[in-house]
Parts: sequence; C-alpha cells; structure tokens
Amino acid sequence: MIRIGVDIGGSHVGVGVIKNGNLIDMSGIDLSKQDKQNIKEALVNHILELINEVLDDTQLSISEIDMIGIAAPGTIKDNIIVKSPNLGLFKFDIISELQKTINLPMQIRNDSKCAAIAEKYYGSLKDADDCVFLCMGTGIGAAVFMGGKLLEPKRYAGFEIGHMVIVKDGLQCNCGKRGCFETYASMRALKRNIAEVLEIDNDFTGRYLNEKLLDFNNEKIEKVIDEYLDYLKVGLCNIIDIFEPEVISLGGSFAYYEDNPIFKKLLDKLKEPNSTYNQESSPEIKVAKFKNDAGIIGATVTLEEE
Ligand SMILES: [Zn+2]
Repeated sequence: MIRIGVDIGGSHVGVGVIKNGNLIDMSGIDLSKQDKQNIKEALVNHILELINEVLDDTQLSISEIDMIGIAAPGTIKDNIIVKSPNLGLFKFDIISELQKTINLPMQIRNDSKCAAIAEKYYGSLKDADDCVFLCMGTGIGAAVFMGGKLLEPKRYAGFEIGHMVIVKDGLQCNCGKRGCFETYASMRALKRNIAEVLEIDNDFTGRYLNEKLLDFNNEKIEKVIDEYLDYLKVGLCNIIDIFEPEVISLGGSFAYYEDNPIFKKLLDKLKEPNSTYNQESSPEIKVAKFKNDAGIIGATVTLEEE
C-alpha cells in the first residue's frame, strides 16, 4: 500500500510517500510572504510540485499511489477547510482543486489530529489509553484519546486547547479572542519573544532556534525561556486536571527538544508542589516519536484503520 501524505503548516508545506505505514521519502517548501498573499493558489501549486518531486525521487508513477491524505491546520469539515485563521483560509475546497490535476481518492483532516493519530497508532502514545497530544507550532493544536478512542464532538472540532484563555485580557490571538494559551506557549510565541530580546527578525526556523538561540548562558534568553515555560505549565496543568491523561505527548517543533535543557526544565516545573489537583499521579510527558513528520504519516491513515 503506497500513499502520499501532505502536511500544510503555517509556514511550510511537506509532502511524503508512505509505504506500509513507513515514510520512505519526503520533500518540502517554506511559504514565502508572496505565497501567503495568494495562499490558495500557492498551496495547490506547491503541493502538485512536491508530489511530482517525491514521485521522481522514488521512481513511482501516480498510478501506483492508492490515495492522498492531507493534514491542514484549523477547522476541517466534510473534506473542506472551513476555517484556518493562521493561514488566512476560509471555506477552501483544496481537494477539488487538486483533483483537477490528480484523479485519486483524497482525504483531509486537522493537522494536529493527523499527528495525534500517527503517534497513537505507531508512536509515543501507542501504549496509553488516556492520552493527550499537543502539536506545538505556529499555534497549539490538540487531540484527546480516552479509552484508546479519539474524542470527536458532533458539532465542531472541539479540544481547542490552544484557544483556552490563560490570561484575562491578554495578548490578541488570531482567533479573535485575547489571552489564548497559544499566544503564550506556541513555538511562534517563543520565537517572537526571543527575537524581541535579541532585537532580530523572527523569520528564523525552529531548527535554528533549537541549535543556535536556546542559549542558557544568556541571561536575557534564559528569562524568556523561563517565562515561556511558566505559561506552558499553566496550560499543561489545566489539561492534566481536566483529562487525567496517562501520557501527554508534545509534538511539532517541540519534539526536537527532548535533549535540550528546555525539556528538563519543563519537567522540573511540572513537579513543583501544588501544580495539579492530583499531584501524586502526574502523567508521563513525552515528545512525539515522528517529530514534524507525524502529520504526514497520520494524514494517510484511513478511518477504517483507526
Ligand atoms: Zn485563540
């Protein structure tokens, strides 16, 4: 079974070939400022280009592909992007656009849910019944499993954990509200705050942030990280008190921080007394096994397999 997974991010589009559940090749492109101004056309064109690229790389023809799965941020319903504020997309039927060129079955799902499904079925959440996945990127997406089952409300997507308010009258969020968890604890928030103290542009990548900027010998940066982790802790402790998960897995760019002091610091903060209601049973905090590839892999899992 060979499938193609597409991951549309706030600043990057990735496409991969998945053979029997394994990612065998992938390619990606960063979205430019121009792309963002003409986002619908840019996405369709980039995805088609990248599909050709991975097919070339793997010497496969499109007729050998069973289906294409797409992961996209925001609210997805009936295979349509209903609302994706971080991309500035509203009511976009990207599948119909792609099917004008490629005649294959396609499905689209929220990116955090895709990543969560990949982690639950093959990765960091495999052995947990009650668990929460957080996708830490431009925003904070979430998915919750109880008794091994992905919780999905009837009306909207639900589990908009990134938009739970943690600061009254706080920072303005793209969703319209103020003080949302993701305006303080997303990777974008960390980048923004570090760029501010270093007085540099914040258009660097997550990798650059991880390798070059998370400098614990720099007092200014250490203070930013400390404050960032305090906000992240507030959100995580709320999640722990509500869902009592056995495991919380942190994905998106945060998945690269397993060996960075920032992860150890977060674990220490969560162990401080009076952080959660049931202090004696704190969940295991993990990082996503498939790192940023979780979305691409999970996008291609079909409903029957879930
Ligand atoms: Zn919000």
